[in-house]
Order: sequence, then C-alpha cells, then structure tokens
Amino acid sequence: MNFTVLTIFPEMMDAFWQNGMIKRAIENKIIAGSSVNIRDFANGKHRATDDKPYGGGSGMVMKPEPLTYAIKKVREDNPDSKVISLSPQGKSLNKEIVRQLSHEKGLIFVCGRYEGLDERIYPLIDEEISIGDYVLTGGELAAMVVIDSVARFVPGVLGSFDSAENDTFENSLVEHAHYTRPPEFNGAKVPDVLLSGNHKKIDEWRLETSLKRTFLKRPDLLEKRIFSDQEKEILKSWCKNIEKIIE
Ligand code: SAM
Repeated sequence: MNFTVLTIFPEMMDAFWQNGMIKRAIENKIIAGSSVNIRDFANGKHRATDDKPYGGGSGMVMKPEPLTYAIKKVREDNPDSKVISLSPQGKSLNKEIVRQLSHEKGLIFVCGRYEGLDERIYPLIDEEISIGDYVLTGGELAAMVVIDSVARFVPGVLGSFDSAENDTFENSLVEHAHYTRPPEFNGAKVPDVLLSGNHKKIDEWRLETSLKRTFLKRPDLLEKRIFSDQEKEILKSWCKNIEKIIE
C-alpha cells in the first residue's frame, strides 16, 4: 500500500516515516510512504502556496494552482490511489473507516494549513476526513493518525505477536489488562493465572478483564453487543458474586 502526503512541511513527516513499525514496514516493502512538498509546484519568485481570502477577513487560504498541479502529478504516478483531504469538516475517523481505507491500493493525503484549501480544489478530492471535533493548525498530524491506524491493518505491518484483531474496539470491547516482568513490583503482583501456563484459563481471565474494563470505561460500546454464551456465564457469575465484587 502506497501512502503519499502532500504538505508544505515535509520535514514534519520525516520522523514519522523514519521510526517504529512504519519505518520497518517501509524497509520491508510492505508499505511505501513519502512526502511531496506542495511548494515544489508553486510558481513565482516566492513560490507562494497561500494568499489572502477574497472578500476579506482574517487568515490565508491555500492557493489552488500548486495544490492542483501537485495532486495531478501524484495521481498520475499512483492512478489507483484515493485522494483524501484532512479537514475538521470531514467524516470523523473511526474503526470502520480505518478498515475500509486499509483495502485501498494507495492513499494520497492533502494537508491544509491556515484557513484551509481554496474551494476549487475539492473536485480533485475523493474523501474528506477529520480526526475529531477540534481544530489543528495543519493536516500533517491528522495524516499521521490516519496512516498509522490504517497501516496496522495492512497484512505484515504488525509483528506476528502483535495482532490488530485483539485490540481495543475490535469485538466492541476494550482490551484486557497486560503485565510483563517483574512478577512483583511495588508490592503489586501479577495475577497467578498469567503465570500458570494454563492457556484456557488465561484466555478466560483475559475475556473477563476485557468485559470488566469495558463496563467501567466504555459502557457505550456494550449497548448493541450480542454477548456470547461464555460472556453470559461471566456476567451471571458477577451477579451471583455482586456483593463480594462491590465490597
Ligand atoms: N478554517 C478551517 C475550518 O474552520 O474548517 C480550519 C483550518 S485548520 C486551522 C488548517 C488545516 O488543519 C485544515 O485545512 C486541515 O488540513 C487541518 N485540520 C485541522 N483540524 C483538523 C481535524 N480535526 N482533522 C483533520 N484535519 C484537520
């Protein structure tokens, strides 16, 4: 899968491409990631990428020409890629959108700055995505959030021991608790079951902590959940032991 980010601050993206899972996935040629400087497509002595808004008012607007030339060139090189504009006015990113995007051959991200893009760019945009109901100073951080979450679903990006399938939000539950060495720290012990080597019991314990955490932290996730027989048994046992649990 090919990720291309159109930005006037390509240096912001460098650290992202050059660290962690994303770096490894690029090195292993599972994904490709690159930045394109919109300024390279700007004309004139100052290579301006923004200008004052028609009609007056504060702030600057990203000029249509450099953006159009940049999007068209990148699209030409990646004809199967979808063009996404990062914008607080877009669809709010969620796990369904992330999954859907992970099936695309390539994604081209257009990062806005200032007051945003000249309206005449939008015919070149396939989708507008927001990362939440707040306003950032630019689209680069939003592009990183989208790429990072989408790349995790590209087969081979995560290590074999690190599966996206068990993460929070998959199966409408938050993930179970985690422990690593040492077995005791500041008087707090790792639960015995995790040291037992009994994988059936460990799976049961994980499911139970996952359910508990979801009830406590994100009860909204459970509203439409159809509980499995095993989960129903766990819930019944809580009811039986409710006095003990809330003590
Ligand atoms: N004037 C614009 C408005 O009110 O809709 C906001 C522009 S914002 C200061 C500059 C750029 O940051 C946007 O063009 C967009 O690329 C990016 N941005 C800001 N908030 C964002 C969000 N919540 N999600 C995705 N991108 C965002």
